[in-house]
Amino acid sequence: MKNIIILGSTGSIGRNTLEVVRNLKDKFRVIGLSSNSRWELLANQIGEFNPCYVAFNNNQLVEKLQGRFPPGKFKTITGNNCLEEIVSKQEADIVVSAVVGAVGLPAAIAVLEQGKTLALANKEALVMAGHIIMSLAGKDQILPVDSEHSAIFQSLQSGKPGEVKRVIITASGGPFYDYPEEKLSSVGPEQALKHPTWQMGQKITIDSATLMNKTLEIIEAKWLFDLTVEQIDVVIHPQSIIHSMVEFCDGSVIAQMGIPDMKVPIQYALTYPERKALKVKPFDLSFIGNLTFKKPDMEKFPALKLGYQAAREGGTIGAILNAANEVAVQAFLNGKIRFTEIVTYVEKVIQNHHFIKNPCLEDILAADAWAREEIRKCLF
Ligand code: NAD
Ligand code: MG
Repeated sequence: MKNIIILGSTGSIGRNTLEVVRNLKDKFRVIGLSSNSRWELLANQIGEFNPCYVAFNNNQLVEKLQGRFPPGKFKTITGNNCLEEIVSKQEADIVVSAVVGAVGLPAAIAVLEQGKTLALANKEALVMAGHIIMSLAGKDQILPVDSEHSAIFQSLQSGKPGEVKRVIITASGGPFYDYPEEKLSSVGPEQALKHPTWQMGQKITIDSATLMNKTLEIIEAKWLFDLTVEQIDVVIHPQSIIHSMVEFCDGSVIAQMGIPDMKVPIQYALTYPERKALKVKPFDLSFIGNLTFKKPDMEKFPALKLGYQAAREGGTIGAILNAANEVAVQAFLNGKIRFTEIVTYVEKVIQNHHFIKNPCLEDILAADAWAREEIRKCLF
């Protein structure tokens, strides 16, 4: 029996994680849940899974949440450090980090420092501070939840690290891959929030539409699998059946495939190195019919260039890119900027920033704060 804590339990990954755990009740006990919104859903989750600890970063709603339960049913943890606090509970074996954005970084560091397993969906932490996170992580201490990285992780098991030629990350291309380029600047949040193959939270859905999600995933892959930029390729694969591939030195290409369902990579991260039965839709290639592939269009989707730049130059660029993108995506969702301006603003902030080659955590957090301030100055 393993004790598990889920950060971001009310989100898309969080709910899928609870679905996995619901089917593996003899393997996992949920000892901690956390979110900063949707208190009624969180209350239902508490009622079902009976965690000892609940981190809820929302002062206005915390009383409502507690009012649902008899006093002492669980310990509530609040405040800005509540994620670090909850993951530090001694009983925890595995932490699933499924919060969105930079808020996940300090918690990820705390999990690793305490020798617990980190099932990582929150790619933003690696994008910001991959060198710090990887320096803290032991072998198999970070298990990827992101579907592409889970696919690479699974495919890598066919060879030795020195035998890897390159990885090929697949991308659905998002809702606008075939959309006329000249019309992109006028697409609104409603259109951008319609992802063709995955049901996800708002931020990652917009990132998928700009291809910024692939940008973040290039950086994530570089750190997780210790790759050079030259070893990372991206291919557009609209059906999202092949989740990514590894090419080995002998020309063999190993791919991991399946119906797009986040429960698969989540469960693999939780049960690794074992596999457990999971009910998924039938995999029927004759029904799917075609698997198609295209080269990514870097002119139409300039975000990808930033991914390669950030992966190549490292330092503070990842933190700057991530922070600027978080603010720009919110500004787009609030109707303040155009779709195409998301990447333009991120580019501008990267160009203006003071680059630090080997940043410590304080430098990273300062770069994050600077980028948020800088982009807000441009926006308002
Ligand atoms: P979501 O928006 O659906 O859920 C985010 C969760 O984090 C919610 O429970 C929310 O309450 C919580 N949260 C947000 N800000 C917080 C804060 N400041 N403090 C505490 N809790 C906070 O997001 P999602 O789609 O589940 O994505 C979560 C992470 O997983 C992201 O990093 C995303 O890139 C990554 N990811 C998601 C998918 C997917 O299919 N959704 C796939 C791969 C990777
Ligand atoms: Mg992904």
